[in-house]
Amino acid sequence: MVNAPQAQEPQGAVQSGGEAGSAPGGWSGWRGFVVERRVRESDTIVSFHLRPADGGPVPPHRPGQYLTLLAEVPGKGGLKRTYTVSCAPHGESYRISVKREPEGTVSRWLHDTVSEGTVLKVAPPAGEFVLPAEPERPVVLVSGGVGLTPMVSMLEHIAHHQPGLETHYVHVTTDGSTHAMGEHVRGLAEGRPNIAVTTFYSRPRPQDVPGQGFDEAGRLGPDWLRAHTPMAEADYFLCGPIPFLRDLVSGLAEAGVPAGRIHYEFFGSMDRLLEAWPEALDLAPGAAAPAAAGPRGGSEPAAISRHDIAEALLNAQSDAVVVSDREGFIVLWNPGAERIFGFTEAEAMGQSLDIIIPEGLRGRHWEGYRETVATGQSRYGAGDLLSVPGLHKDGHRISLEFTIVLLKDGAGVVTGMASVLRDVTAHFEQMKSLRKKVAELEGRG
Ligand SMILES: Cc1cc2nc3c(=O)[nH]c(=O)nc-3n(C[C@H](O)[C@H](O)[C@H](O)COP(=O)(O)OP(=O)(O)OC[C@H]3O[C@@H](n4cnc5c(N)ncnc54)[C@H](O)[C@@H]3O)c2cc1C
Repeated sequence: MVNAPQAQEPQGAVQSGGEAGSAPGGWSGWRGFVVERRVRESDTIVSFHLRPADGGPVPPHRPGQYLTLLAEVPGKGGLKRTYTVSCAPHGESYRISVKREPEGTVSRWLHDTVSEGTVLKVAPPAGEFVLPAEPERPVVLVSGGVGLTPMVSMLEHIAHHQPGLETHYVHVTTDGSTHAMGEHVRGLAEGRPNIAVTTFYSRPRPQDVPGQGFDEAGRLGPDWLRAHTPMAEADYFLCGPIPFLRDLVSGLAEAGVPAGRIHYEFFGSMDRLLEAWPEALDLAPGAAAPAAAGPRGGSEPAAISRHDIAEALLNAQSDAVVVSDREGFIVLWNPGAERIFGFTEAEAMGQSLDIIIPEGLRGRHWEGYRETVATGQSRYGAGDLLSVPGLHKDGHRISLEFTIVLLKDGAGVVTGMASVLRDVTAHFEQMKSLRKKVAELEGRG
């Protein structure tokens, strides 16, 4: 998700494969990957190099995209978690780099149990927080903690394929013990004068020597970015914890960087992000640029692309947008869906559509769904407004009106279905009572 608070817990897999499904080496659903190598990157981060167990190639991911794992944690069943691919695309394997969360179920399982040779179930790369295919402006990559994973992927790609691109990579971590991939990143900048790398240690230890491993002590703030990076022209990519994003994204906007040039991702749920930083939505794509964010000394308009508009609509709370894959598992659940149905994104992703269909209607629904997937033809594909009862998380029924759009790959094969749903319960109830009144009046007459 570009220019947006890419904050979800898309812990459900994009099982249909999307673009990756039709690319060479692409796949749909889960595929077995062998952990070929485990590398300890710091006291808290371990990298896992994943190679397809079937010996085939992998489709190239876009630098910044993530994979979804189905972690079979003993006693917990299959748990879905997403991890950004931390290397550049090269067609043979992927690398993910995972921080061990002290209370985290899957990250602890990966760190403590998963060894070389373990086979993990993996869904294809997905996500829109990506480096443009042909960057036209300087790029500034800014990461905090494990937020370095998309940045290292992007930096590797730039170093190997676009070394002439002006690139600044600024990473912030606590100290030398938590600093992952430091040497690797410095190596990427070596001999490439257009790539500048700066590392901040927020609390260096006595043994952390400035100039060796880190460059700056303390906090990274917008002022530093203003002084050291080309704010008037660069695209900014940020990933890190909430306070880090809140300070830097707001700071960049206040300094006049248009929203269309600020791209950020958060490794957690939208709920958590908005709870701590409600203004995040104002800085989302399509949102009006804050008053202070007028272009500095220029007249660069904030571009509104189709992509930005799509993102803004998807991030809205008004209508529910629910996308399901061929099998009817939910692969996209927007804030509107959360508002209308009560399930959070984390709860809904990867679940069957059954969670919002009243039990008595499921048989008929699935019959139509399967037929539509198989034939690529929907009786309702031309914008017809459908009315059906739906199910809220707390079990009460709601009245819905919705339209559907079939999603197809390049060969015309159905990959999923997108539904835009509106809660019309109040209207429905009103109509019911009006009808009753009319019937009563007619009865009297
Ligand atoms: C797009 C995206 C990309 C990501 N990329 C990466 C990546 O590259 N590397 C990476 O390490 N992570 C990444 N993540 C995060 C990752 O998906 C997991 O969320 C993370 O590993 C934690 O999962 P877990 O199962 O270990 O923790 P969970 O068990 O899901 O717990 C999550 C957090 O909540 C806390 N918690 C758990 N239970 C409770 C409770 N009862 N009360 C209070 N707090 C609790 C835990 O301490 C933990 O910090 C990414 C997330 C997203 C959305």
